[in-house]
Order: sequence, then C-alpha cells, then structure tokens
Amino acid sequence: MKNTTKVFATGLAAFALIGSMSACATSATTETATPSATAAAPAAWSYSGANGPDAWGTLDPAYATCTDGTAQSPIDITTTTPADLPNITFNYVAGEAGIFNNGHTVEAEPLMEGEDAITLDGVDYAFKQFHFHAPSEHAVNGTHYPLEVHFVHKTEDGKIAVVGVFVQEGAANPAWDPFIADIATATEDPEANKVQIDWAALLPTDQTTVRYDGSLTTPGCAEGVKWNVMTTPITMSADQIAAFAAAYDNNARPVQPVNGRVVTLDSTP
Ligand SMILES: [Zn+2]
Repeated sequence: MKNTTKVFATGLAAFALIGSMSACATSATTETATPSATAAAPAAWSYSGANGPDAWGTLDPAYATCTDGTAQSPIDITTTTPADLPNITFNYVAGEAGIFNNGHTVEAEPLMEGEDAITLDGVDYAFKQFHFHAPSEHAVNGTHYPLEVHFVHKTEDGKIAVVGVFVQEGAANPAWDPFIADIATATEDPEANKVQIDWAALLPTDQTTVRYDGSLTTPGCAEGVKWNVMTTPITMSADQIAAFAAAYDNNARPVQPVNGRVVTLDSTP
C-alpha cells in the first residue's frame, strides 16, 4: 500500500541550502509544517508502526532500494576477514558546529565548510556531520550498544563514507558535553544552535575498524556507502547516554542480511 501522505520537508530544504547531506537521515518530516504543492516532497517514514522499517520500500518509489537492495545497512558484525589496511586518517579541526534536529535524529555539522576530512584508501572525503542512533544500528554478534554515532563524509563527486562509533556506559566523556547540552533544544535550523566542538576528541583512541560496502540506513537506503565501524567503543556516563535517548530512543533500523558481503577487519597494529 502506497502512503500518499506528503509532508513538506523544511529540514531537507535547509540541508540543500547549506550544501550539506546526511547518510542516515536525509529527510525531515515535520508534521506541523505547512503542506506544500511540491510533488517532490518525500513520503513520511518512521521507526515503528505502519511507516516503519518493514514498509519503507513501499512508501515511495524513491525508497524502493530499502526493500530491493542486496547490500543494505546496518548489519550484525559476526565473521570478519582480517586484512592489513591503511589506517583512516582523520583531519578534523576543532571549530564551530551547528546542532539541529531533523525529525529522525539530532545532528552536528561543522559550520566552516571544507576544513574537516578523512582519507580512506587514498581518497579524501569531506566531513559533513555526525548524528546518533539509539540503540546502535550495527550489532556485534547480535549485541547492540546503547548508542551509535555516525560520522558522515562525502567526496566532491558524491561518494559517501561513514565512520560508526559505538557508545557504551562508563566514564563520562566531557568532549561530548557541548553537543549533549543542546540536544534537547535543537531545532531544524543549525544556525540557531552553535557550539564549539573538538571533533577529533569524540573518537576512540584505538581506531581499528571493520569495513564493508553498505547503504544509507534511512530511506532511500542508497547503496555504495563505505562503512567503517570502529571496534573499540567510546564511553559516556549514564546521564550522558540518557540525554541522547531522551530525544530519540528508537531510531535504529534493524540489521539487514549480509548476503555474502566481505566484512573486513583492519588488522594493522
Ligand atoms: Zn546514521
């Protein structure tokens, strides 16, 4: 059954204006927004109920890959193949961030375009934003973490690489406090919530990754995404984790079939 409800995505329009993008949350479905005559507005989707993950592929023709795709994300990370890979180089510069709520998660994006990037397999990807899922989207041998943060990167020609970082409960992590402080008040406008973030300090010290070819984890579930999931979680206090979950506590797509994909574990010491 096709869902014919079309909601003008003001958050998406804001994205386009600032030239940003999102791997896992590309459309904002603000239910109170004024309906638009624009036919291009994407169908509303959610994480539960009639518009939940099982239905995504039928909600809109643009979401068909969510059902038809064979290299979807997230996955349960079980069997991995060790390989001596070049480490990911993180060129993150502490600076001003805009924090916003797109209707499916809360994101932070660097407001100085082009300062931050990673190099993965010799390719430079600009850092666009991070956002979170609660609980984690990826699992490890069937076990989920309380949170997973996705650091989203994109090349000039549109290739996407995401670095996933698991969060487990433990010591408080002050580097996250500027973001956490604004989760509850974030609106759809990143210019309305500006803070200073030391992006590099958000990452685990051990940056060993599991890598595989997957997809966006939100509609339209486009494939060709280079996934890099850090094997070492970071810690946050229970109160810090609770601040994320207070905003969204069920915004994780279920794990998808691996379908024979090679999941590589970087074995570089
Ligand atoms: Zn995500």
